[in-house]
Amino acid sequence: MIDLPTAFRRALDAGLAHEGATAPNPAVGCVLLDAAGDVLAEAGHARAGAPHAEAAAIALARGRGVAHRIHTVVVTLEPCTHQGRTGPCCDAILATPAREVWYAMPDPNPVASGGALRLAAAGLQVRRWDRLLPEAARLLAPFATRVPGAAPSSQ
Ligand SMILES: [Zn+2]
Repeated sequence: MIDLPTAFRRALDAGLAHEGATAPNPAVGCVLLDAAGDVLAEAGHARAGAPHAEAAAIALARGRGVAHRIHTVVVTLEPCTHQGRTGPCCDAILATPAREVWYAMPDPNPVASGGALRLAAAGLQVRRWDRLLPEAARLLAPFATRVPGAAPSSQ
């Protein structure tokens, strides 16, 4: 069993493992916990076109036969709502028994944002975790500069 700060640390580490490889997407990490706070799966977004962190972690949990135990989703970025090269993470989360979602950074991309509202509307407890903001912001920094209206990244 791990506490929330530890879960966020692990989610950040899972995202940071792929930092620099995910352009034009941000590096994102996700940890799935059961109701007792035990880790079921953790994953980062590996590269553009690959599953987002939430979908990757859920797929891992499915592969391990523990997806039915998913209770809490801990993710460094607000789950997305848009259909890109992969499906919306909100849909992936809503296809699990998850009851709680904790995220660190709101999605800065207007096309993909609104995930927190959508999940809350579906009856999940959605909360923002702001204690890791500087590190979560660093994870997102190369991505935030590519959001329309901002200067293009030099990467
Ligand atoms: Zn997503």
